[in-house]
Order: sequence, then C-alpha cells, then structure tokens
Amino acid sequence: MFPSRFRYEAPHSLDEAIGLLHDGGDDVKVLAGGQSLVPMMKLRFASPEMLVDINNLPGLDYHRAEPDGSLHIGALCRHADLEFSELLKGTQPTMAAAAPLVADPLVRNRGTLVGSLCHADPQGDWASVMLALGGTVIAQGPNGRRAIPLASFVTGPFENALEHDEIAVEAVVPAAKGVRSGGYLKLERRVGDFATVGTAVAIEMSGDTVIRAGIALTAVGGSTIGATEAAAALTGKPLTAESIAEAADLAAAAARPRTDHRGSAEYKRQLVRVFVTRLLGGTVTPGTGTSSAERAA
Ligand SMILES: Cc1cc2nc3c(=O)[nH]c(=O)nc-3n(C[C@H](O)[C@H](O)[C@H](O)COP(=O)(O)OP(=O)(O)OC[C@H]3O[C@@H](n4cnc5c(N)ncnc54)[C@H](O)[C@@H]3O)c2cc1C
Repeated sequence: MFPSRFRYEAPHSLDEAIGLLHDGGDDVKVLAGGQSLVPMMKLRFASPEMLVDINNLPGLDYHRAEPDGSLHIGALCRHADLEFSELLKGTQPTMAAAAPLVADPLVRNRGTLVGSLCHADPQGDWASVMLALGGTVIAQGPNGRRAIPLASFVTGPFENALEHDEIAVEAVVPAAKGVRSGGYLKLERRVGDFATVGTAVAIEMSGDTVIRAGIALTAVGGSTIGATEAAAALTGKPLTAESIAEAADLAAAAARPRTDHRGSAEYKRQLVRVFVTRLLGGTVTPGTGTSSAERAA
C-alpha cells in the first residue's frame, strides 16, 4: 500500500519545525525514525496532511550524563546508539537490558527512543523502561519548554500529552539517589517481534535498603502499566524473599492482559510474576502459579 498524499517539510531549525507544527494544525505529524509512522501511513491508519521531518535538526542525536547524574536522550538518538552505549552499560542496567530487545537491527538503526515514547504503543518497550526509571519527556513548543513525567506523558494507547505544536526534544532519566540495579525481560515469539509480555524493573539501594523502586509492564494492557503498588511493596526495606514475592504478585495483579493468539491472559499474568521475581533475584516455585522468592539479590 502507498500512503495518501502529504506535504513534506524538512526544516533545519527547531523554531522552524515548531512554526510548521503551529501553523499546520492537527493534521501535521513529526517524522523521526519513521519506523512506526511510515508503516501506519502505508496501511492508511494515519493520513497526515503534512510531515515535519526532524532529522535535519542539529544537536538532537545525543545521549549523555549531566554533572548532576541525570541521563538525557535527544530526540534523534537511535535505538542502536543506546544498544551499543558504554555509558548505559555502566550506569543504566534497565535501559542496557532493553535496548537490544527492541525490534530488529534495521529498525534499531533508524527508530528513536523519544519517537517510541511519543508513539505510545502499549507494546513499545521504552515507555515501560522510562516509566520504571521515573523518566520525563521535555516538550518544546511556541511558548517554551515543559517537563512531562512519563506517568502522565502516555495518556492512552497511541496517545501522548503533547500539544499539536510541541516537539518532544529529549527524554530524561533522573539521577540515581542510591546504587542502581534492575533489568528488562521480554517474551517475544520470534527475535525482533513486539513483546508478548515485557517487564521493566529499576531499583536503587542504599546499603541493604531499597530507597526507590520502579516496575512497569509492556503489552499486558491497553497502555503501558506502572505497577506502583508492587514498587511500593519493595521500598524502604531490604529485598527479601517475602518482599520479592509480594511485589511479583502485585505486579501480576496490576497487569490487564487479554487472551489472544500469543497466549492466555493467565499465562501472560504469570509471566509478569516470573519476570519480576527473576529481575529482583528471586526464584519461582514451579507449578504453583504463584511466586515464591527463595533468595534475595
Ligand atoms: C518491524 C518492526 C518491529 C518493531 N518492533 C518493536 C519492538 O519490538 N519494540 C518496540 O518498542 N518498538 C518496535 N517497533 C517500533 C520502533 O521501535 C519505532 O522506532 C518506534 O516505535 C518509533 O520511533 P521512530 O523514531 O521510528 O518514530 P516515528 O515512526 O517517526 O514516529 C512515531 C510517532 O511519534 C511521533 N513522534 C516521533 N518523534 C517525535 C518527537 N520528537 N516529538 C513529537 N512527536 C514525535 C510521530 O509523529 C508519530 O506519531 C518496531 C517497528 C517495526 C517497523
């Protein structure tokens, strides 16, 4: 299939891009990596009147740690940049685990983390990772910049909190207040597929105590799910077999999976339980249907 006719603009400055979005109204779309938008246009699920291609905008292809310890990911930082990032390997275990699991190498070479957040696909991996890490999206529009926490940025399936004339210029992961650990586990039918179930866990420890926890779920609901009660069950105490088991059960309860050709709702819920347990260093008692963490990380 071919997309409908559209006007194509490729500005060289952010102000020009924002001006085009402002003047164009609701039927204008930003084009970043094009790995979600172009297939949608070819299938005619999206038929924008104009595309504003941001690939010529200078200075947006970075990911860097600031002196305060926060991590900033520009709107043109590709999945592959993150996959091969030494910075992530050393400092961001949840992101480092997720990056190689997003799609396939072709998609990873073009697609962007910020574009994935904007696309807000319930099966997108980065939204869960950023939600678990307490991330923020920085939006820029005609009236300047504003920070939107991930928890309120994704407003529903394929919906985000941006105004029509705002561009998401970067995503930010706050500095860790403790020692960071965690990871991302994803079940996919074949390598490169979207998740059947994905689970992101991000923990910060001070000594033996968990001082911050984030757990978020991919592909088990109409939108990315933050398992806030599960995270709260871990916080303010050491990681123990009991707290891991409780968090795993609460995360499974937070999932809203549907039975489909990839598995039953109960199977997917159990996967969440297993993934949370594994990511926290516990073990699952086989055949019981509930998690029983036998050792803490
Ligand atoms: C075969 C295939 C497999 C895939 N598998 C996976 C997978 O396993 N996991 C996964 O997470 N993703 C997967 N994807 C999606 C991929 O990760 C996309 O790259 C990503 O979802 C969108 O990023 P993009 O830069 O390509 O955005 P685009 O396709 O350019 O844009 C997507 C949407 O976001 C908007 N947008 C993009 N950037 C901005 C911005 N800076 N400001 C405002 N709006 C913006 C666009 O207007 C559009 O509505 C897959 C894609 C394909 C084609």
